Amino acid sequence: MTEAGKRTRHRSWGETSDASGAILQRPHLSRRAPIRPDRGSIVGMPDPRPSQLTERPARVMVIVAHPDDADYGPAATVAGWMDAGSVGHLVCCTSGDAGAEDPDTDPLELARLREAEQRAAAAIVGYEAVTFLHRPDGALENDLALREQLVRLIREFRPDAVLTMDPTLIFHSDGYIQHTDHRAAAMAALDSVYPAARNAMAFPHLARAGLAPHQVARLMLFWTEEPNAWVDVSATVGRKVAALREHRSQVREPEKLEERVLGWAREEGERVGVPAAETLRVIRLD
Ligand SMILES: [Zn+2]
Repeated sequence: MTEAGKRTRHRSWGETSDASGAILQRPHLSRRAPIRPDRGSIVGMPDPRPSQLTERPARVMVIVAHPDDADYGPAATVAGWMDAGSVGHLVCCTSGDAGAEDPDTDPLELARLREAEQRAAAAIVGYEAVTFLHRPDGALENDLALREQLVRLIREFRPDAVLTMDPTLIFHSDGYIQHTDHRAAAMAALDSVYPAARNAMAFPHLARAGLAPHQVARLMLFWTEEPNAWVDVSATVGRKVAALREHRSQVREPEKLEERVLGWAREEGERVGVPAAETLRVIRLD
């Protein structure tokens, strides 16, 4: 498929294109192109039909707790968007310095290793930038200092969509507890998107220094049990597997990785009739 063909495959609210595919401006297309244009349900009534997400944010910020979270998360989705022209910035609040079994592991060495693994994975996915906030792994707090760091990054990068984990998920399938760092990172991301990033009086020294308030149009939550959007990742799920392979210090059974990741994607894809899909809970903020 040509670049122009890829561009028209997704609707975008962060950019629009003319017939040649050139970016013209950054209007709010979402009002003309609702996220679920084919839905005929009454507002407020649950719709049992899963819907494919066809919009594409032009500028995407993914905020996670640890190296590898983003790659187990929406890597195939953002890879597809970036193939079609989006720009992505990955923010890891910690460097995963507690992610080993041996208590004598040097946390600084481990952090260096995991940052290198994440940068290699991010290059495969296609992110323009990766930022590590160097917060302590296992002790992440949704505090003012973290939110100030995130607000600064949001105002600098000015994303159309912020992707993070669903902080309301605590238990999964009666056999999994959502990591405290995941909940803290996700809640900090939410609180930074709204209200802080758009409020000039939140961390006022930022606005005084020239970082104008920014309104994020979409919050997109992954690892959620309440998805409302399925993304066709048939073309990019292989990149997700390749990105995950870069996290060598973390993948316990590398021989089973591909089968596992493709299995999850196939299962979600079946719900919307495509070979592979990832799911998101999309919150519209514009
Ligand atoms: Zn994690």
